[in-house]
Amino acid sequence: MIKEINYYKNDMIEFMKGMIPIRAISPDMGGQGEWDRSRYIKKFMESMGFDEIEEVNTMDDKGYTRPNLISKYYGKNRDKTIWIAAHMDTVPEGDINLWKYDPYRATLIDDRIYGRGTEDNGQDLVAGLFTIKAFIDNNIRPDYSVGFMALSDEETGSKYGMEYVMDNYSNFGKDDMFIIPDAGNEKGDEIEIAEKGILWLGLNVMGRQAHGSRPDLGINSNRILFELSMEVDRALHGLFSDQDSIFIPPYSTFEPTKMFSSVQNINTIPGSSSVYFDMRILPRYGIDEVLKTIEGKVEEYSRKYGVEIKIEIVQKNDPAPKTSENSPLVINLKNSIKEVLGVNPKTVGIGGGTVAAMARKKGYPAVVWATLEPVEHSPDEYCLIKNMIGDAEVFYKLIMKF
Ligand SMILES: [Zn+2]
Repeated sequence: MIKEINYYKNDMIEFMKGMIPIRAISPDMGGQGEWDRSRYIKKFMESMGFDEIEEVNTMDDKGYTRPNLISKYYGKNRDKTIWIAAHMDTVPEGDINLWKYDPYRATLIDDRIYGRGTEDNGQDLVAGLFTIKAFIDNNIRPDYSVGFMALSDEETGSKYGMEYVMDNYSNFGKDDMFIIPDAGNEKGDEIEIAEKGILWLGLNVMGRQAHGSRPDLGINSNRILFELSMEVDRALHGLFSDQDSIFIPPYSTFEPTKMFSSVQNINTIPGSSSVYFDMRILPRYGIDEVLKTIEGKVEEYSRKYGVEIKIEIVQKNDPAPKTSENSPLVINLKNSIKEVLGVNPKTVGIGGGTVAAMARKKGYPAVVWATLEPVEHSPDEYCLIKNMIGDAEVFYKLIMKF
C-alpha cells in the first residue's frame, strides 16, 4: 500500500522534537553555527536511502565550519533536478521573558509545535525531507530527480549558505529548478516569483561644529543634510516612478531610515550628520542609474555649500530576473496548491532578500512558497502541523506533475 504523507505525521513531529534543542544560530548573532544540527539531519538523510548525499561546506571568517547538505533521489531522467532548499539556521530566541514555552524544547500543544525555528525554517525542512522519504519508501521514481538542500547562514546573508552552494556545487543541471519554502501566508496562496533590487546607502555631510549661539562661526551639517535628503527623495521618486502590479507595493521604494548627527545636546551646531536610505528597486531599473542620480545631487550640494559629503554603500544587490508566471514550475505549483489546499494562488513580487534571487541570478527558475503563520522570529514561534503536512503534500504533487 502506498504511504501518504499523513502516514509520517508522528515521525515528522519526532524529527522536529529532536532537531529544535540542537541550536543553530549564526556566529554573527552570537551562536556556534549549524554544525551540530547538520549532523542530526545528515544522520537522518543517511537512513532514508538517498542516491547521493554531499556536503558543500566552507569556513567562515570566525573559523566556524558552515555546513550545507545536498542530497539527491534519482528520477527516471537524471538530467533535471527539482530542488527543495530549506535553511538550518535560526535567529536567537531574543528576550527569554517574552516566551511562555522553552524556545529549545519543541513543545507540542494540539496542532502546534512551539520553539525557535519550528516554523522558520523547521516546518518546511521537515516537510521537504519527508516528501522525498515518501517517494523512496514507496519505491516511486519521479520523472526527474528530486534534490534536498539543508543550508546554513540564511539569517545572516547566505554568504556561507545558498550563495556558496550556487558557486561551488558542481552537479547542477542546466534545467534544474528550485522551491524555496521560506516565505508565504496563512492560506498558502502566495507564490513569490520576483524580488526587487536592494540598495542601502548612507549620506554623510561634514560641516563645522560651533556653539549654538554662534551659527555664523560654523556650518550646520543638519540643515544641509535635511535639504539634500529631501531633494534625493524627490528626485528618485520622480525618475523611478514605474509601477509593476506583481509587487507589493507595486513601485520602487526609497525610504530615509536611520539617522544621526555628531551632537547629543541642544546648544551645539552639529559638524557631521548622516542619514541612511533603504531602497527597494523594481527589476526594470539598474541600481547604477539610481546611484548616478544620487551622486549628481551630492555633487551639487557639496559645491553649493562648500562641504564634503560622503556616500556610503552598505548593501547593493542588483535585482535578479523574475521567474516567469508561465514556467512549468509555477504552473505545476499553482495546480498542486489548488488541489491540496483548495485555494487559488496568485504570483507576487516582494521587496527582496530571499535566497531565490541567488538561483535566479544563475538562470534557474525559483519559487518561494510555504503556508506560514506570521510568527517567524517572534517569541513563542510555532508551526502548525497541518501546514507541515499540507506543504509536503503540495511538494509531492508538484514533483509528480513533472
Ligand atoms: Zn527563513
